[in-house]
Amino acid sequence: MGGFHAIMIIQPKIRGFICITSHPEGCAANVREQIDYVKSKGPIAGGPKSVLVIGSSAGYGLASRIVSAFGSGAKTLGLFFEKPGTEDRPGSAGWYNTAAFEKAAQAEGLFAKSLNGDAFSHELKAQAIEIIKNEMGGKVDMVIYSLASPRRTDPDTGEVYKSVLKTTGGDFTNKNLNTDKGLVEEVTIGAATPEEIDHTVKVMGGDDWELWMNALEGAGVLAEGVKTVAYSYIGPKLTWPIYTDGTIGRAKKDLEAACARISAKLGANHGGAAYVSVNKALVTQASSAIPVVPLYISILYKDMKARGTHEGCLEQIQRLFAERLYTGEAPAVDEAGRIRIDDWEMREETQAAVAEIWEKVTTETIDELTDFQGYKEEFLRLFGFGLKGVDYGAESDPSVAPPSLGGA
Ligand code: NAD
Repeated sequence: MGGFHAIMIIQPKIRGFICITSHPEGCAANVREQIDYVKSKGPIAGGPKSVLVIGSSAGYGLASRIVSAFGSGAKTLGLFFEKPGTEDRPGSAGWYNTAAFEKAAQAEGLFAKSLNGDAFSHELKAQAIEIIKNEMGGKVDMVIYSLASPRRTDPDTGEVYKSVLKTTGGDFTNKNLNTDKGLVEEVTIGAATPEEIDHTVKVMGGDDWELWMNALEGAGVLAEGVKTVAYSYIGPKLTWPIYTDGTIGRAKKDLEAACARISAKLGANHGGAAYVSVNKALVTQASSAIPVVPLYISILYKDMKARGTHEGCLEQIQRLFAERLYTGEAPAVDEAGRIRIDDWEMREETQAAVAEIWEKVTTETIDELTDFQGYKEEFLRLFGFGLKGVDYGAESDPSVAPPSLGGA
């Protein structure tokens, strides 16, 4: 093929809680920083060697893929739903993150393939199984389930379920940060109908995770001792009406119920286990859409950075692998059987400080009392903006793609 490359200058265009542009070189710089961090931690002894990551292009899933590959030398198959760039229009950040990840993995001789499609569908499951069978030595020894999606099409009935972020009781009124305008306002979140609760559980609960594990089991592609992990969140009482006791919390309860069933089966058939890991609240595309949470995160970051306990997705997953899942012993779990890497977030002194600031903070004091500045910077970084060493005035090529999906 010829050497034609589209070039353009790409700038952030924020619409509410999403940025509709993303920067290929910036995303690549972001991924490189994460790879360097994992390498600085040294290899994870006894870590996984063949990993399927469902939701691998951003946030916790991308971190899981990077730790698997660069901390454990694993072959990785990553699944996601992202928009490719064209010659004159940037694609989504997860697309560029994956392009950079795959190139870095290839450069070190690590197998890395990706599938861009609907992970809830039968088709993507079948395609993933084919790749595991034909190109990954026939088995996976770790399956990461890290989807965050607003909707799901039932693969059998075609019915479309939409998740909502509502309470399961009455109205809940609290402070909210309008991250676009920097205003601390009040927000009232209404109660979900039984049908809305049900639909949110269908989208973000454990149903699809179980379908995945059953499909992989049925195809005979699970290795002896296989582990699988899905991610959850709990947080402080302050956010419970909207999170833990809200519609999304119901879905997470369902995820835990599925976990117990999956784990029993993996234990009996493969000497394996399934886990739910409760992770820290972090700025991702998924979390920025949840009311109340961005204000909580801005306050939390300020406290955790001051104490030196702040972590990003990558530090969280590095700790999950090295200090929980692959220590040679069964990981410590809480009373409900969950792994906790939200332990530093939930420390009493941190939560006491957050509660105090929560009461006081106003629009006028947002920059003084919280790390809103850090929130905004991290939000932009999700889309590849604000990375050190990237020349944002230079022309950029929006048509870059992951090598396994047609990239150079
Ligand atoms: P994210 O938005 O950064 O990433 C979501 C991923 O899911 C992306 O790779 C996206 O492409 C993929 N995806 C979405 N719909 C898909 C579909 N239909 N088919 C294939 N891929 C699809 O989200 P995140 O914040 O990293 O969330 C991942 C998990 O971690 C979720 O279960 C979330 O509840 C959990 N979690 C998040 C936080 C947080 O603060 N962000 C904290 C604890 C737990």
